[in-house]
Amino acid sequence: QEDKFKKVIAHAKEYGYIFGSSEIYDGLSAVYDYGQNGAELKKNIREYWWKSMVYMHQNIVGLDAAIFMHPTTWKASGHVDAFNDPLIDNKDSKKRYRADVLVEDFREKINQKIQKDITKAKKRFGDAFNEDEFRSTNPNVLRRQKEMDKITAELTRVQEENDLVGFKQLIEDLGIGCPESGSKNWTDVRQFNLMFGTKLGASAESATDLYLRPETAQGIFVNFLNVQKTGRMKIPFGIAQTGKAFRNEIVARQFIFRMREFEQMEMQFFVRPGEEMKWYEYWKETRLKWHLSLGLGEENYRFHDHDKLAHYANAAADIEFNFPFGFKELEGIHSRTDFDLKAHEEYSGKKLQFFDPELQESYVPYVVETSVGLDRMFLAVFSSALQEESLEDGSSRVVLKLPAVVAPVKAAILPLVKKDGLPEVAHKIVEDLKWKFNVIYDEKDAIGRRYRRQDANGTPLCITIDHDTLNDQTVTIRDRDTMEQKRVAIADLKTIISEKTDA
Ligand code: ATP
Repeated sequence: QEDKFKKVIAHAKEYGYIFGSSEIYDGLSAVYDYGQNGAELKKNIREYWWKSMVYMHQNIVGLDAAIFMHPTTWKASGHVDAFNDPLIDNKDSKKRYRADVLVEDFREKINQKIQKDITKAKKRFGDAFNEDEFRSTNPNVLRRQKEMDKITAELTRVQEENDLVGFKQLIEDLGIGCPESGSKNWTDVRQFNLMFGTKLGASAESATDLYLRPETAQGIFVNFLNVQKTGRMKIPFGIAQTGKAFRNEIVARQFIFRMREFEQMEMQFFVRPGEEMKWYEYWKETRLKWHLSLGLGEENYRFHDHDKLAHYANAAADIEFNFPFGFKELEGIHSRTDFDLKAHEEYSGKKLQFFDPELQESYVPYVVETSVGLDRMFLAVFSSALQEESLEDGSSRVVLKLPAVVAPVKAAILPLVKKDGLPEVAHKIVEDLKWKFNVIYDEKDAIGRRYRRQDANGTPLCITIDHDTLNDQTVTIRDRDTMEQKRVAIADLKTIISEKTDA
């Protein structure tokens, strides 16, 4: 798995999907830039989300709020007081640790050990092997499971009770994941706010302290009435938004999975108080269906219902995805009650209520939120798409099986040879298709190598112009996944590409 992850990162760079930030200055840790293909893939995922949310629901509209917001916003939302992680530094190694990340590491290692036990037993018992039974009876697995539960319970307790001494003890107990465990040379445990601060204004004296938004949601809450009134929205209705969010994560890592600057795609759905659980269930199901529609494999998703809830929520679940480093949160669905709107009423002194014509009464709506990280979606799509296939003739190929709807380049237009008027025909086809699709022209190298290049680039279709084209106005179209080739009329290309790549 580790190997697979390394391949994902290398491939993302080699094919212009993701570069380390400011590489010529040796990079900036845990910050990444999206290259020519990455920018396109990211935009397509964003659009796929936007269409499914805003265009497919008559009662959901979009918004694009600013990253800077009035500083009181973050007092009301709880981010000034409650958006903290405890951290501890080891004085010898000068390394900084966060308890929940260490526990995550620890669980991962134990899970890997359990997986090894299972693989071994499978080999030994063959067809007679039953994984569920093995998990619930094998003493080794049970012991590891117990160890994992104990540490997880201790983390929950330490976080709930904000027990900083317990936090320090936990890190010392962990052993795995923290090479300095056992060392006595720790700093005190400190609370660390995850918001980035900055200043607005020219001179130091008049400057106002601001934060970069740590989530896009609050821009939606403060605009709730603006949108409701001008859009004449009736409850239930939703507001969707995509945009950058910033968190000064103590430990940013795992490539684009956890970054300090990232992009969210959030939708806040405003409902009648008392009806939130119905909508919470609705959105859990609807969002999972959206993920499945990309065809990355049902077995790669699972729900994780939260027992421990954030201060604003009365129900919460994650949709987890099987990343190259295991199942991790991809999207959160939260029933946020009226916490945010009520808090903004209190801090702003403005009413944020809806007059319900059916009930003939005003109330502060309840909110169900769906929140997915665009970069994490990118990683999910990209990592599961990257495959190495052995072919019938004994050779192998690297193929990036991106869902066609989000693939950066929809078709590559390839003249078989660089002469006899074939490039001219190919250029004409590009000129015709470019109004609707992102297509590219490529005439370099033998056709077989060009096909492989497009396979690795994730391009779903290759269109080859040969000498017959000059006589009968047909071309060869090759499918990335099946490698099947068909002869089709140039006049039909638009329809064929649309059928393959439209949502
Ligand atoms: P995590 O537990 O992984 O830190 P979270 O529960 O804090 O995530 P939310 O606040 O619910 O995350 O944010 C919603 C979504 O935003 C997450 O499901 C994730 O996809 C994305 N996200 C959150 N933090 C980051 C980050 N640092 N880098 C990239 N994406 C992120």
